[in-house]
Amino acid sequence: MTSFETKLLHNRHKFDPATGGVSVPIHPASTFHQSNIDQFGKYDYSRSSNPTREALEDFIASLEEGTRGFAFSSGMAAISTAFLLLSQGDHVIISEDVYGGTYRMITEVLSRYGIEHTFVDMTNLRSVELAIQPNTKVFYVETPSNPLLKVTDIKAISELAKEHHALTFVDNTFLTPAIQKPLTLGADVVLHSATKFLSGHSDVVAGLAVVKDEKLGEKLGFLQNSFGAVLGVQDAWLVMRGIKTLSVRIQQSSASASKIARFLDTHPLVRHVYYPGLSHHPQYDLQSTQAKGSGAVLSFELENEQVLRSFVENVQIPVFAVSLGAVESILSYPAKMSHAAMPEVERKKRGITNSLLRLSVGLEHPEDLINDFSHALQKSEIHSVTQGGAR
Ligand SMILES: *Cc1c(COP(=O)(O)O)cnc(C)c1O
Repeated sequence: MTSFETKLLHNRHKFDPATGGVSVPIHPASTFHQSNIDQFGKYDYSRSSNPTREALEDFIASLEEGTRGFAFSSGMAAISTAFLLLSQGDHVIISEDVYGGTYRMITEVLSRYGIEHTFVDMTNLRSVELAIQPNTKVFYVETPSNPLLKVTDIKAISELAKEHHALTFVDNTFLTPAIQKPLTLGADVVLHSATKFLSGHSDVVAGLAVVKDEKLGEKLGFLQNSFGAVLGVQDAWLVMRGIKTLSVRIQQSSASASKIARFLDTHPLVRHVYYPGLSHHPQYDLQSTQAKGSGAVLSFELENEQVLRSFVENVQIPVFAVSLGAVESILSYPAKMSHAAMPEVERKKRGITNSLLRLSVGLEHPEDLINDFSHALQKSEIHSVTQGGAR
């Protein structure tokens, strides 16, 4: 078996068989000439199938150890299309601090089509069991979750789902197959916002889905073609270029994230650091058994909102933006960015407060980031004093 790192570069698509070109050809054709009235070729129309998109679909299927991959125009298109496997009257059990767009889809769109849901803390298997209904058809897991980095036991949830003849969907955006492979742990559908680590350069919006079961693959392929939210060929090519360096990027970023998490963890103005690589994280052991690392995303709660505002104003290196998983570090404010779609009461219930920041660590030197944060925190200290900073 070739290692994951080598598979990123040496695979069926390493060169173009027609020319030897060491880059997957971009086929912009929307339609394909058929030479015979009785026998059509493999490709007919690019919504249904296109050689460039297919190369990416094969690539992600192999990296996730599935049988079929599907590329979509965004992570939300992948997630929404996977939800179309459900029918009216079905019920979904879903991680409570799920990505804001997924929250919006399930609460405001699917609810109109008679698809029911229950949000649960997926780290607590007992509450998952209690939420099961006769019509539960999907267990939807995001692990580590966004933005509180809660870790769900993929194997345990998948087993529970199988007992109840339901499917397990796992959003693997935060870790990618370089660190975690949900299909090998029993999940049925792996979902990605390829906009993030897989592409890695903040320059493309894309989504992917992978399945292992061939029948499920047929169904999802049918839905991809029916709904039609496919990825364009230029973007498919960009995602493939990004994936080649996935392993080195995520290893470097994860090592830096771990250093930064430890720095923030001891800082007096930081109330709490959420990172599954810290030994005080409640699912530290689970994370180290089900995944090969802790990833490059962490969140931290500051003393109060004033300290946060001052920190964001004074920090120099990271971009302050939505999104994650890029070569440059990205600092985001979940309450007003990724989770703006979630009403304030729901956010507060989940611990997504107005003093919480999420950091996606990029490829800068970790010491530069630590110095930058240290300096910005020092400047924020006054707000902790003037506000009383009660702990
Ligand atoms: C960004 C993100 C999505 C949505 O993906 P888009 O490409 O923005 O549509 C879904 N899940 C997670 C965990 C994400 O971070």
